[in-house]
Order: sequence, then C-alpha cells, then structure tokens
Amino acid sequence: MLDTVRFIYHIRRSDLLGRCAPEAKRTAVQEKRLRQLLRHAVKHSPFYRERLAAVDIETCPVSALPVLTKREFIANFGRIVTDPRIKQDDVRSFMQSPTNLGKKFLGKYVVCHTSGSQGESALLVQPQSDVDKTFAMQAARGHSMPKTWNTLWKKLFGEKLRWSVVLFRKSFFPSGAAFENIPGPMRKLANIQRLNINDPIDENLAKLNEFKPNIITAYAHVLENLARAELQGKLQLRQAGCLQHVTSISEPITDMARDYMQRAWDVPIANHYAMGECMGLTLGCSKGHGAHLNPDLAIFEVVDRQYRPVPPGTPGDKVLVTNLLNFTQPLIRYEIDDVVTLSPTPCPCGNLLPLISNVAGRSNDRLWYRRGKTYQEVAMYLFKKIAAGSPSVAEFQIHQPERNRFILKVEARPGTYLQASEVVKVAERELAYEQLTDIIRVDVEVVDEIGPDPRTGKLRRVISEVGIPEDLDAPPTEKIERRERVLTPA
Ligand SMILES: [Zn+2]
Repeated sequence: MLDTVRFIYHIRRSDLLGRCAPEAKRTAVQEKRLRQLLRHAVKHSPFYRERLAAVDIETCPVSALPVLTKREFIANFGRIVTDPRIKQDDVRSFMQSPTNLGKKFLGKYVVCHTSGSQGESALLVQPQSDVDKTFAMQAARGHSMPKTWNTLWKKLFGEKLRWSVVLFRKSFFPSGAAFENIPGPMRKLANIQRLNINDPIDENLAKLNEFKPNIITAYAHVLENLARAELQGKLQLRQAGCLQHVTSISEPITDMARDYMQRAWDVPIANHYAMGECMGLTLGCSKGHGAHLNPDLAIFEVVDRQYRPVPPGTPGDKVLVTNLLNFTQPLIRYEIDDVVTLSPTPCPCGNLLPLISNVAGRSNDRLWYRRGKTYQEVAMYLFKKIAAGSPSVAEFQIHQPERNRFILKVEARPGTYLQASEVVKVAERELAYEQLTDIIRVDVEVVDEIGPDPRTGKLRRVISEVGIPEDLDAPPTEKIERRERVLTPA
C-alpha cells in the first residue's frame, strides 16, 4: 500500500511539473537537481572528484563541465560508481547467470548492459527507485487524463489500460531490464501483456487478437510486421477499435514501416527516444509529433562537432546527455553520436515540454529467416546480445550466406584473447533461450579486425547475401493519404 501511495505521489508530481508548471519552475528543478548530482559525484566518485577538481560545481554552467565519452565511461566504471560495493567483475558475473534475471544486484540495483551497437557495451547500474520514477513519468505524461488523487485512485480499482509489450524474453538489455522491473503499482494501473519477439508470429497474433491492446510498445520493425499482419487480415485490432496509439522504441521508423502502420491502424505513432544510460530522457508524443524531453530527469544538449550548441530547427552532429536521476553511476555530459533536431516551436499536442522533432536514424539492418511456411525477422539484438555476452568481444559483424544460416564475426578487445568456442557457447545459450536452436544456425568466426566499409568509411553491421525475401507476403498496395511526418529517419 505504501508503495502505491508513493508511486501515485510521483505520478502527481511528474504530471504537475510537466503539464502545469511555468518554465521557470522546471528550470529551477533542473538546476537544483544538477547541483545535487555534482555534489554527490564529487563526494562519492573518485573519477568525478579528480575530473571536476578545477570546476566550481556550485555555479558553473553545464557547458563548463567536461564531456564524457563512452570509452571513458566504460574504462572508468569502478571509479565512476558512487557505491564502492559495486565492482565491475561482480556485475558482469551477476549478469552471466540467467537465474539472476529479474533480480537486483546487491539486493538493490537494476543492472543491464547496452547492446554495444557502437562497439563495446557499457555496464549500467541504477537503483530500483530510479526505474519507479521513470515509469511514474510515463504514467503521468503518457496521456492527457488529469492525474488527481481521485482519478488515479479510481483507476487502480476500475478498468485498466491494456498494454502489450513485445520484447525479447527476460534479458539484461536496458529495455528488458526496465520491463522486468516494472513497479508493482504500475501493474495496478495497467494490464500488461508481455510477448516474446522470437515466438512464432502466428502465436503472438492470436494473443494480441484476444487481448485487444490499447497500446503496443515494440521495436519499430516488430510494429511494421504487426501492421503487415493487420493489412493481411491476420491481426484484427482495427476492427476491434481498441488501439489508441503504438510506441516504437530503440530503432528508427522507416518510411515503409510508417506507411504500413498508418494504413493498418491509423493511430498516432509515439516514437520514444532514450538510451539505457538515460531511460527517462524523453517520452514519445502520444499524438505522434515527436518526443517530449523531460527536463526534470535529464539535461539534453544538441551540439556540433566542437560541442557548440546548435539552435532548435537545425540538426546537430551529436548530443550530450546528463542523467539527473541516477546518482549511483553519474552520467554527466555523455556524448552520443545521434543526429537530433529540436523543434523551434512547442508540440502541436499542447504539451509544453521541449520537443525533439527529428532523430536521424542509424541504419536499420533487417534479417529474415524461414519459419515453416512463412518468413520471420530475426532482430539484430539477438546478435548484439550474443556479442555482448563475451566480455572480450569489441566489435561484431553478421553475415547471412543462406536464409537460415548466419556467421557472427567477432573482433577481440585490445589486450585480450578471444576464443571462438567462448562465443559459440553464448550463442548456443541464447538460441536455446529464444527457442531458435533448431530453426537458425549461428557460426562464429574470430577475425583480427572488422574494418569499416571502404565505400562509406562506416562499419557495416550486416552483410546479407540473401536479402529481404522476394516472396515476402507483402500486403496489397494502395494509395494512401500521407499525413505530416515527424521523426522519420533521414
Ligand atoms: Zn506532443
């Protein structure tokens, strides 16, 4: 009961600050939180004590604080964390054991690792209370219903929102870690259906038809496949009239995906932009206009290559993220190579929080395999998960020489020795976990270097010799009226 009261308190607070408070109030909250974070970091983190020694942390502007690269963040794990009991090797070995899925490290912390899509993966540690506050923000700002004590209390005992989430089975990826640790009171507000991405699609479609979700949260490519199924008549959510919006996470939405979704459901597509390092950064606009920033939970800077601020309306070269929630593993001006455009005007939906109007997508690699009579997509995350499962893997690349056969090429971290058998073991474990053992085959090859593509200078993550199946059962095409598009990948 106390948990529920606390959770509702956080929802109320988050709602009032996000919906009603004047901008000055939000700025004041952000400023107060930043100073608390800096004081805590300097007091308890040897890394920040050294790094911020020459900075007046009580008065300096954010722009005077040094930038933190991912490499530095990974290399200094043990000196950054503010609880000395958190040791890198312990966190790693904790995550090696599947029996720890859904459990807290040291009985207190939610741990996960990034997918390593930019190379090495980072270990992330945050207290459960941070996850609670992130979900409270989502409940508060995810739709426009006023959150009075009365309406929230009624919601606890009345008809619940039906929310389908399509993800991997339990995992130590950030999205998995977040959904595995959904606060108990959140489950009282929403009826949550959890589906596994690698289950046969027909089974998932049947479950969705029965459940009739109001909201579906999934990777963009999963939403695209569901929309395709709707257009083929296998999914009947439009007819049921249940769907209010869909939320895309982790991946850019391709034009094709957006077209399918609009034709299939004609509901807003919320595009959630966040990262494991800062899960509460934004919330996708439920009217489909972009993503609203949460200035009380994070400081977000869009900058050029020299870290100079880029004005709203202009795409930046990178972004700097300061997580104002996590005091256990302080993340201050963390550099991410995303090309983001802030909107110069407020969101048309009426929300006053700053709006991200566009995130240019990283390339969206697609891999299809045959499953019985149909094709199914294997998410890149499966391979990222396998690669991230061996601490010595620095880089990886996936080849698809045949429809159901993949070769995972891995490169060792400098100064480490990597054996293919180590990665094979992880691959076998992950395939078994996803129940794909007899369906697809993954071979592992250790290579000296996975160099960039000579044409583009960028790492090519996927090389498929078979491509998208020509006989993929695409829905009939028809002319559609295009609506204003936001947040489409460049
Ligand atoms: Zn909006």
